[in-house]
Amino acid sequence: MASEKEAALAAAVPPPDYPTIFDKIINKEIPSKVVFEDEKVLAFRDISPQAPTHIIIIPKVKDGLTGLSKAEERHTEILGHLLYTAKLIAKQEGLEDGFRIVINDGPSGCQSVYHIHVHLLGGRQMNWPPG
Ligand code: 5GP
Repeated sequence: MASEKEAALAAAVPPPDYPTIFDKIINKEIPSKVVFEDEKVLAFRDISPQAPTHIIIIPKVKDGLTGLSKAEERHTEILGHLLYTAKLIAKQEGLEDGFRIVINDGPSGCQSVYHIHVHLLGGRQMNWPPG
């Protein structure tokens, strides 16, 4: 029988096809400040920015990728595309001095939306180690 902690952690993670707020953003059911879009990915400003530039980059089709820990070999192309898009947007946003990429995964990684996404943060000095 699962411990209380295990049960709580399991309850926090929805099933792979469970719709998230990002589906509504992709479908334009709720507004977002889009900064980049192509046939595979969408990038928009985070609603609760943690840096002067804070952009979320997501695949338009989740294909089971609720988070990085669910990645399989078929996802390598979209994973590369997400990172390359982050580089393009960093340039577009003028982040010449550097930036940070974050992918939170699972409850311990503080993931809150279970549709894989890359955070692009910049415009201030980052600290290390992260919180
Ligand atoms: P996570 O915590 O899963 O790594 O990141 C989810 C991110 O999505 C958070 O930084 C949160 O602020 C952002 N977010 C959640 N809901 C919305 C929304 O409705 N619109 C936008 N633009 N960002 C959102």
